Amino acid sequence: MAKKYDLIIVGGGSAGLGAAVAAYDAGIHNILLIEKEATFGGILNQCVHDGFGVHLFKKTLTGPEYAHYLVEMLKERPFDILLSSNVTDISDKQEVTVFVAGQGVMLFKTKAIILTTGSYERSAGAINLPGDRGAGIMNAGQAQYFLNLKGYEFAKDVLIVGSGDIGLIMARRLSLLGIKVHAVSEIMPHSSGLKRNIVQCLDDFNIPLYLSHKVTDVRGKPRIEEVDIAELDDKFEIIPGTTKTFKVDTLLLAVGLIPYVALSDNLGIPTSKSRGPVVNNNYQTQLPWFFVAGNALHIHDLADDAYFEGEEAGRAASLFINGKLKAPTNTLQVVPGYGINYVIPNNLELPLNTEELVLKFRPKENYENKRIVVKIDDTVIFKKFFPFLFPSELVILKVKKELLVAGEKLIVEVSDE
Ligand SMILES: Cc1cc2nc3c(=O)[nH]c(=O)nc-3n(C[C@H](O)[C@H](O)[C@H](O)COP(=O)(O)OP(=O)(O)OC[C@H]3O[C@@H](n4cnc5c(N)ncnc54)[C@H](O)[C@@H]3O)c2cc1C
Repeated sequence: MAKKYDLIIVGGGSAGLGAAVAAYDAGIHNILLIEKEATFGGILNQCVHDGFGVHLFKKTLTGPEYAHYLVEMLKERPFDILLSSNVTDISDKQEVTVFVAGQGVMLFKTKAIILTTGSYERSAGAINLPGDRGAGIMNAGQAQYFLNLKGYEFAKDVLIVGSGDIGLIMARRLSLLGIKVHAVSEIMPHSSGLKRNIVQCLDDFNIPLYLSHKVTDVRGKPRIEEVDIAELDDKFEIIPGTTKTFKVDTLLLAVGLIPYVALSDNLGIPTSKSRGPVVNNNYQTQLPWFFVAGNALHIHDLADDAYFEGEEAGRAASLFINGKLKAPTNTLQVVPGYGINYVIPNNLELPLNTEELVLKFRPKENYENKRIVVKIDDTVIFKKFFPFLFPSELVILKVKKELLVAGEKLIVEVSDE
């Protein structure tokens, strides 16, 4: 007989720990938290730089310190945990199959699930990287793991592709270790990283940033030896005569994180533009017992935001377990309008069961002096001025419950007015 839980949380990073703490505090104590790795924390464990925890702990911590503080919070809340345990399946009968290291396969039954499995990195194949596939081509997360957790120095000369925060932070980390970072190449005409990271991670180390550039060839086997990049025009076509060659032994790909949703995909739960499952304002999918939060839903810049989202999902799942949250009826669809890449949530349940509607979204491009307008059908219900909007910065907007009116679609858009 499968052991029964009220709530199973899959993934023990910031979001999963936030979900567990909030659900426990809401009175749900029959919880099982399952983590694939031997310790909790997820991405946090490999991020040795500081900048974590400003909102939650009111101090700036390294990733492992932040993970330690979160784990301390669990000690006051006794519930079941499984570490070194990989969830391989969640069935539509609400059964969870787990491979537990050293013990074999276990099956559990649950009233509700919160999926907090984080994200994976876009690979060389996903960006159609041309040329040889010699050793030395690796993802930034892998590199972080080797350097920070294993202590391997695997490179002497590096070219980084991708100028998001992960690429920028890796440029600084490698430079501090005495590894030569020749350049950062970015396909877009702008960096998708924070301005302060460009200054602190590239400018301070004299590392050039080549915007509107892409890799056109990689040469070398068994280890790579040379990488070519070339400039692109505004139609993303290569401009002849702009090739630059770098003699490097490592090409580090920092080309984006994607929500890891294999377990919800298996259940046929659709995904949205964020590449995470479609959810309503309760972080509830079309299966009323299946909730999602953190990077598994959309990519978060800040661990605090992933933690707070986990908390919200934990509270909503608790309501569901206590019979106080019904199956979604999706009263209002939420749609990204002009200039917006994606919006979370994807649907709203009205009347809202919270005082404010929290909208999270990313702009498609860099904008200056624009307004974010929230409309229900043709009625503008909310406007806010932003001197700057960047795709690299998640915007979190709170709209008061009483501003919501009846309609079909809630639209979030960038506007001049
Ligand atoms: C390089 C880098 C730098 C960053 N810098 C900062 C910063 O300075 N400040 C800041 O606040 N934030 C920063 N962030 C963002 C922040 O770390 C993340 O947004 C946040 O930690 C994501 O938490 P999560 O719980 O959603 O995902 P994760 O941390 O990825 O956790 C997911 C967990 O699920 C587990 N899991 C996955 N699949 C399964 C399965 N099938 N069974 C069991 N367990 C499973 C994983 O092992 C993992 O532990 C950074 C992120 C990166 C990548």
